[in-house]
Amino acid sequence: MRSWRIDLAGGLRRLRDAVYPGVCSLCGEGAGGGACLCRGCADSLPGLGEHHCATCGEVFDGEPAPGFSCPNCRDQDFAFDFARPALRRSDGALELVHALKYGRRLELGRELAALALRAFDDPRLDAARDGCWPLVPVPLHRSRRRWRHFNQAEEIARPLARLTGLPVSLALRRVRRTTAQTRLTRHERQRNLRGAFRVVPGREPAAGAVLVDDVFTTGSTAHECARVLRRAGAQNVVVVTVMRG
Ligand SMILES: [Zn+2]
Ligand SMILES: [Zn+2]
Repeated sequence: MRSWRIDLAGGLRRLRDAVYPGVCSLCGEGAGGGACLCRGCADSLPGLGEHHCATCGEVFDGEPAPGFSCPNCRDQDFAFDFARPALRRSDGALELVHALKYGRRLELGRELAALALRAFDDPRLDAARDGCWPLVPVPLHRSRRRWRHFNQAEEIARPLARLTGLPVSLALRRVRRTTAQTRLTRHERQRNLRGAFRVVPGREPAAGAVLVDDVFTTGSTAHECARVLRRAGAQNVVVVTVMRG
């Protein structure tokens, strides 16, 4: 029975590779094994490196002075402990995120999760791993989800759960539609998001939670999500994203 299962899995893999040989989304070369990002392109996407803001992951050239907080985080009292993007801003990383989100390339969720996994090299995330904190994707409002048919944060969180061994918890619901955030100031963003999220009854995290999203930009969304998770009992909330926007 077992060998039959293995044969079936191998057969399905061969079939998949024949139908969908795997082409890299960035360079267009063959990626092999049904992958859609080749090894070379994945390795070329720049990580945060040594010098970055401890709160938001913004990268700095040169060594910042001790206690330096970046312009984004100065005077901020975020409800999350820290945000750890896996990658710094780059055209390649942004292209992948957009291909998933707007190009509906759902198969990229797996590749983006593999990239997001790099964030877990950060020793500050050991507590999340040791404590088996749930991965909580930042939710979309149901009207937007209906229009897009999926939530990109969830498409990243699910394969990331398999890679980290952490559970996924759809603990947050977006109860209010918000206007597009891109043109708003930080203050307007925060006001716009107020009351937008609720914790689903029965899914309150106890010790901690890892919020998962595709991009960390100003932190307004992550802050509001972390605030309601904390109010529901989470002692620690950390944020993991694929890239710093
Ligand atoms: Zn490539
Ligand atoms: Zn910062």
